[in-house]
Amino acid sequence: LSDRLTSVFTSLRSKGKLTEADINATAREIRVALLEADVALPVVKDFIARIKERATGAEVAQALNPAQQVVKIVNEELIEILGGETRRIRFAKTAPTVIMLAGLQGAGKTTLAGKLARWLKAEGHAPLLVAADLQRPNAVQQIQVLGERAGVAVFAPEPGNGVGDPVQVARRSIDHARHAQHDIVLIDTAGRLGIDAEMMGQAADIRDAVRPDEILFVVDAMIGQDAVTTAQAFLDGVGFDGVVLTKLDGDARGGAALSVRHITGRPIMFASTGEKLEDFDVFHPDRMAGRILDMGDVLTLIEQAEKAFDADQAAKMTTKFASGENFTLDDFLEQMMMIRKLGPIGNLLGMLPGMGQMRQQIDQIDDKDLDRVAAIIRSMTPGERDNPKIINGSRRARIAGGSGVSVGEVSSLVTRFFDAQKMMRQMAGGMGIPGVPGTRR
Ligand code: GDP
Ligand code: MG
Repeated sequence: LSDRLTSVFTSLRSKGKLTEADINATAREIRVALLEADVALPVVKDFIARIKERATGAEVAQALNPAQQVVKIVNEELIEILGGETRRIRFAKTAPTVIMLAGLQGAGKTTLAGKLARWLKAEGHAPLLVAADLQRPNAVQQIQVLGERAGVAVFAPEPGNGVGDPVQVARRSIDHARHAQHDIVLIDTAGRLGIDAEMMGQAADIRDAVRPDEILFVVDAMIGQDAVTTAQAFLDGVGFDGVVLTKLDGDARGGAALSVRHITGRPIMFASTGEKLEDFDVFHPDRMAGRILDMGDVLTLIEQAEKAFDADQAAKMTTKFASGENFTLDDFLEQMMMIRKLGPIGNLLGMLPGMGQMRQQIDQIDDKDLDRVAAIIRSMTPGERDNPKIINGSRRARIAGGSGVSVGEVSSLVTRFFDAQKMMRQMAGGMGIPGVPGTRR
């Protein structure tokens, strides 16, 4: 997907104008890209229609170049469909606020209940976790363990609490929350492996008994296209106000997010990204748009990179990339050293548009090579490093002699540098680095 889009955007960038044929070609590519990301076909069709309409409209005539325009439109539309701004939980006027979770078995409801409870507690609330899944043998125990870890009280079906009857348990939990001063009640419910009338009925009964302020539909991002049928079934059977996507730590492209959002019209509110309680965040439409387009989770990259080397250096590198100007051999060397220093984190550079190719180039250079490259560059005069174009045959021979390598090696380094420089310019002239302010022009 990434390669495909990179090539689309690159070919657009090299042209001056966006013609109707360009738009159609781009639309075709984006269509394939979205389908590869597991977006449902009807959603893809709608999306493409919107893109075409906007691209052929007046906006194209404005300041940006055509390629920038298309990238901008695709990205904006994705963010728009994914929900624009993040929606927060709506709290009830009178406590407790009742939140009910629904979804298939294995979607990650119970895990999410624990995460949400922990998060709400950190936000200053006093949530109560309710074990209303009496289907799975150890479901109650599972939620008790989670409650303990999150430091949150659990309402479990004990004698007097409505043993064996999830509707009863849910109803009683509300009274209990009132007495025990809990301002939020989080009700975990049972799921089935497939959509099932009995399960749907039970969820609807719980809903009617507790009248939740928010029903959250929990869906596994890995199920791809099936997300649409499942979401539709829950919308019809129980109804819901918001969506939680789980298992986003897997390699799902996130097409499910786009489909569910588009088909149900309900906002995606939270994202679950692992088995641990802290693997959880409010949903960020812009990041998901980037993921679907595979433009790279640049925010993550920047965060990780900042941890690995100092922020000053990172800022310098970013501006350098962004400007694409005055990219010298010294910078080239510094960049290679930095990527070596980053080690495995250097792999993250593959997440940046255009950087995948850069990374490949650098991967071809092993550590011993890198030392030779450093020696060659250090044998150059400052003038040569700033402006390698002046490095002619006789200069090459001198540099080769000074650094103890062959003239051929000097030449190949210079060629590699020019390639890198060209790429920098392309990046700078094109879409910039998404998420990094000031890099898009
Ligand atoms: P439920 O049946 O809907 O209650 O699902 P569970 O909460 O029991 O989760 C099912 C399985 O998925 C468990 O093994 C969880 O540890 C795992 N799980 C839940 N959420 C995530 C997630 O965001 N990422 C990963 N990798 N695993 C998850
Ligand atoms: Mg469960």
